[in-house]
Amino acid sequence: MTDNLNPSQRSKAMRAVKQKDSAPEKLVRSLCHQLGLRFRLHRRDLPGCPDLVFPKYKTCVFVHGCFWHQHLDCAKSKRPQTNAEFWNQNLDRNMARDAEVRALLSSLGWRVLTIWECQTKKLDILTSLVVTIPKTFRC
Ligand SMILES: [Zn+2]
Repeated sequence: MTDNLNPSQRSKAMRAVKQKDSAPEKLVRSLCHQLGLRFRLHRRDLPGCPDLVFPKYKTCVFVHGCFWHQHLDCAKSKRPQTNAEFWNQNLDRNMARDAEVRALLSSLGWRVLTIWECQTKKLDILTSLVVTIPKTFRC
């Protein structure tokens, strides 16, 4: 992958990482609606401000872009070869933050489910993930 952005475009792109209401996120929400799973959006009182929160099942869901959050072994997560230092620093930082957020949430008793952008492209895969939300709930 080549990084064709100039420094200011690149920092703009980085800031857009945590954009609200991305298309994959909307897909996940509409599927949850269809399955009758009740959720809250972007609860700021929780670490990492999870994209969807299912209080009844004590489950937080993050819908992550494969590149920005570095989906392991995914073709979409390939790092750019130009400006490698910049990208490595930023992507490593994103990954470290994600790991920290997951640890914090689970220490608070939340289960964390990450749904990757590429998984939202196939309805059967996405459905198989979403249906685990109520199933794994333990009182
Ligand atoms: Zn992926």
